[in-house]
Amino acid sequence: MATLTVLGCSGGIGAGLRTTSFLLQQGSLIDAGTGVGDLTLAQMIAIDRVFLTHSHLDHIAMLPLLVDSVGALRKTPLTVFALPETCRALRQHVFNWEIWPDFTQIPDLLNPFLRLQEFHPGDVLQIEPGLTLRVLPAEHTVPAVAFHLDSGAGSLVFSGDTTVQQQFWDLVNGIENLRHLLIETAFSVKERRLAEISKHLSPDMLAGELAKLRIPANIHITHLKPGESDLTMHQAIQHVPQHTLHMLQAGQQIHF
Ligand SMILES: [Zn+2]
Ligand SMILES: [Zn+2]
Repeated sequence: MATLTVLGCSGGIGAGLRTTSFLLQQGSLIDAGTGVGDLTLAQMIAIDRVFLTHSHLDHIAMLPLLVDSVGALRKTPLTVFALPETCRALRQHVFNWEIWPDFTQIPDLLNPFLRLQEFHPGDVLQIEPGLTLRVLPAEHTVPAVAFHLDSGAGSLVFSGDTTVQQQFWDLVNGIENLRHLLIETAFSVKERRLAEISKHLSPDMLAGELAKLRIPANIHITHLKPGESDLTMHQAIQHVPQHTLHMLQAGQQIHF
């Protein structure tokens, strides 16, 4: 069994709202949105790996501050696993000595506080004995991925930010021990055009996507936009009567 703790799952910020981040067991983060800021220093020091779905700010916002807070307190580098395009974006736009220091060179190149490690769709990474992370393809406005976590006892899939697609579903339908599917629904029905332009999902689009799911799973809705989260969740339930949908909540723990 493994545990995923929801640190943040909102499409925005505000009192009580945190952007996308999950703690996997004790030592790994899935995305590094503002939810990371709620961890204690000891919890942050214990994080060895950060797996990023894509480069957007709501998924990386706390990474620069995390590495600055714990770098000198850790014995090994914090390793970020991401697509080559995401690593390039982090180097070019964040750790560029203008927005933030380049912690892949601090304190020196041999023993940096931060390491960027590229992955590709299809890669399977061992997180700890018996727990793997598989990189799945995802469609978004920037290169993006979804993740398949498998503890042996069960699997959990996180869509990341995504829109209408097929390859992702073909791979998800092949997961024999799927327990949980975390999928975004960023916009309400009336903002479907915005969802299409920004390559997210609205409830009516979500219905089309979940029609491609051929195996049972607990479905959790994430990335709801502040101000219309209840409306969007209500619409999602109406559009997807064949499944019981759950609204993902910060602080929630999912065991799989
Ligand atoms: Zn995004
Ligand atoms: Zn996002």
